[in-house]
Amino acid sequence: MITPKLVFSDFDGTLTLDDELRPEFFDVLSLLKNHDVPLVICTGRSKSWAHFLLTHFPQLDYVITEGGGVLTCVEEKEGRRLLKDILLVDESEVIRLEKAVIELKEKFPNIELSVDSFGRQTDRAIELSFLEDHPELDKEIRSFFKEKKINFSTSNVHMNFWCGDISKINSIRTFLKDYKRSSEEEIIFFGDSLNDESVFKELRHCVGVSNIEKVKDRFQYLPQTILEGKHNEGVLGVLNYLKSIFS
Ligand SMILES: [Mg+2]
Repeated sequence: MITPKLVFSDFDGTLTLDDELRPEFFDVLSLLKNHDVPLVICTGRSKSWAHFLLTHFPQLDYVITEGGGVLTCVEEKEGRRLLKDILLVDESEVIRLEKAVIELKEKFPNIELSVDSFGRQTDRAIELSFLEDHPELDKEIRSFFKEKKINFSTSNVHMNFWCGDISKINSIRTFLKDYKRSSEEEIIFFGDSLNDESVFKELRHCVGVSNIEKVKDRFQYLPQTILEGKHNEGVLGVLNYLKSIFS
């Protein structure tokens, strides 16, 4: 267990609990703020979520969204918090994705893209529930993506797909290099799902909250620490772990 200089965390299932934002989320924000440790949320949600989080939670200055495709940061100007989006993937890949989405909809007219796909720039998402209801389509869509060299991964709620070298680990490395000069040895990452695996594979100080148990068998690389028990699910696990470090 290290005392981190910086904490990165997934959002759904890690900073929430049973799809709810809980009071413990605010406790995590306060605890880290009191110890002067920045928290960077690194999520598969759309960049509109970064705008929401940075607007309403002044404890946050940076949020990475779209599975590592976009970094949104706060720029202080005359006492106001202004937001700036930074693309973490080449623009040509964004254009390639736009074309692929048109082809995908032509080939699978019944497909339901997630409602938040409208607000996405570097990736799109399909509702997992839609794929679970249509297993034969799920297979065909995966083959389509492979054939077109489109990457995909599943989070707690979506199957996200994108073009180019986007991953949570790449975005964290870019962030450490360009924005907060810290070494990978000085940070902790919290996660719970398959779209966190690129980080689990590369970083040493990774913590899985206990609900990771539900998908544990599907991982090739697991976090170094896995919390156990109902009391360590989601944000409860993050809070308990941080309290054990900082108490
Ligand atoms: Mg998650």
